[in-house]
Amino acid sequence: MTPHLVEQFIQVAYIVAAALFILALKWLAAPATARRGVRAGEVGMLLAVVGTLLHQGIVSYQWILIGFVLGSAVGVPMALYMPMTAVPQRTALSHAFGALAAALVGVAEYYLHTPELSQFTMSALALEILLGSLTFTGSLMAFGKLQELVPTRPVTYRGQNVVNLSLLAAAVAIGIYLVVEPGASHLFPLFVALGLVFGVLLIIPIGGADMPTVISLLNSYAGLSAAAMGFVLENNLLIIAGALDGASGFILSVIMCKAMNRSFTNVLFGAFGQFRAAAEARGEARTVRSATAEEAASILEAASSVIVVPGYGMAVAQAQHKVRELYDALTKRGVAVRFAIHPVAGRMPGHMNVLLAEADIPYDRLLDMDEINPEFAQADVALVIGANDVTNPAARHDRSSPIYGMPILDVDKARTVMVIKRGMSPGFAGIENELYYLGKTLMLFGDAKSFVGAIVKELSDGGHG
Ligand code: NAP
Repeated sequence: MTPHLVEQFIQVAYIVAAALFILALKWLAAPATARRGVRAGEVGMLLAVVGTLLHQGIVSYQWILIGFVLGSAVGVPMALYMPMTAVPQRTALSHAFGALAAALVGVAEYYLHTPELSQFTMSALALEILLGSLTFTGSLMAFGKLQELVPTRPVTYRGQNVVNLSLLAAAVAIGIYLVVEPGASHLFPLFVALGLVFGVLLIIPIGGADMPTVISLLNSYAGLSAAAMGFVLENNLLIIAGALDGASGFILSVIMCKAMNRSFTNVLFGAFGQFRAAAEARGEARTVRSATAEEAASILEAASSVIVVPGYGMAVAQAQHKVRELYDALTKRGVAVRFAIHPVAGRMPGHMNVLLAEADIPYDRLLDMDEINPEFAQADVALVIGANDVTNPAARHDRSSPIYGMPILDVDKARTVMVIKRGMSPGFAGIENELYYLGKTLMLFGDAKSFVGAIVKELSDGGHG
C-alpha cells in the first residue's frame, strides 16, 4: 500500500471507530442491547489500535510488542479472575494506568519538542499532564481504599480544603507560566509532582463508601486528559474518544449523586463515612418478626404478585443464580414475579442489571424505580434480597437521616415484606432501617444464596399451597 492509501485507511478506520464508540454508549444504556454495546466498543477499539499501528510515525514495533505482551499478561487474568463485586476497584486501577499513559505521553512530548511548543499545544499538554497525573495517583488511592489496602475512613484535618486548593492553584499557576514560557523546563518536574501529590490529597478526605462516585469522576478526568492528548498529537479519534469518556463519566457521577440525593460538593468534601458512628449510636432495642424458609415458601406460593428487590447482599453472596431458580419455580406456579431496580443498589451503577442478566432473568421483568414504585401497593409480597438503604422509609421523612431525600423503592407499601439478610447490620449508609420493625415485615435471617436456595428447595419439595 502506498503511504497515501495507508493514511486514507487510517482515517476511515478512525471514523468507523468513532461511530462505533458512540453506538456502544447508546446500546450500553439498556440491558437488552448492552451486549451489542460491549461488542461495538471492542470492535471500535480494535480498529483504533490497528489504524494507529499503521501510522507513518512508528519506526519500531519492538517496544509496542513488549508493552502489548506485558499489558495482556496483567490485564487478561485481571478480567478473568476478579470477582464482580471487585469491579469498582478494578475500574479504578484501569483509570490509573490509562491516566499514567496519558501523562507519560505528555511528558515525552514536552521533552521532545520544548522550547518550540506553540502556546496552544503547550496549553493542551499542561492540561493533559495535570489531569493525567492527578488521576493516576487519585485512582490508585481509590483502588487502595476500595481494596482496603489504605484506611477507608475519610482522613480529614483542619484547613484541608485550603491546603488542597492552594496546591492546585500553584500547579495551575506553573502550568500557565509554562504556556507563556515553554522553555522553563526547570519548573516542569515540579508541575508534574504537584499534580501527583494533589491526586492523593484529593482522595484522602473521601470515605471508601463514596469511592464509586469518585471513580466515575476520575474516569471523566482521564477522558479529558486523553482528549487534550488528542490535540497535542493531532489525533481526531483521541479527541472524540476522550470527550465521550469525559462527558459520560461526568454524567454518571451526576446520576449517582442524584440517586443518593447528595451534591457533588458533599461527596468531594463531605467526609460521608463519618455518619456511621453517630447513626449507630442511636440504635434502641426494638423487636422484629422472623420466619423460616418453609414459611417464606408458603407465603410466596400463595401470592399472585411478587416484587423482588435485589441489593448489595445479593451481589456479595453471588445469589443471582439461586434467584433465577426461585423466579422459575414461582412463575411455573403462575406467580407474577418482577424485579425492582434501584439506580444505586449494590456498589456500582448497573450492578443489579449485570448480575440478573448473568443469571438470564428476562430483561422485561426488570423494572426501574419509577416504573415499579406505583406497583408495590398492589403486590402481595416484596421480597428484599440483601438490599437495605434503597428500601429505608426514613429517606422520606427523617430529616436527620444521612439518606434523607434519597428516592427509595416503596417496598413498605406491599402487603407483606420479606427481607433476606444475615443479621441486623446496617448497609452502606450505616443506619438502621425502620422497614424491619413494621408489623407486615418478616425477617429471613441467613446468607442470601443459602436462604434463597432453601426457599427453592421447599418449593420443589411441593409440600405447600
Ligand atoms: P446496602 O444498603 O449496602 O445493604 C446491603 C445489605 O446486604 C446489608 O445490610 C447486609 O446486611 C446485607 N448483606 C451483606 N452480605 C450479605 C449476604 N451474604 N447475604 C445476605 N445479605 C447480605 O445495599 P443496597 O440497598 O443495595 O444499597 C446500596 C448502597 O450503596 C446505597 O446506600 C447507595 O447509596 C450506596 N452506593 C451505591 C453506589 C452504586 O453505584 N450502586 C455507589 C455508591 C454508593 P447483613 O450484614 O445483616 O447481612
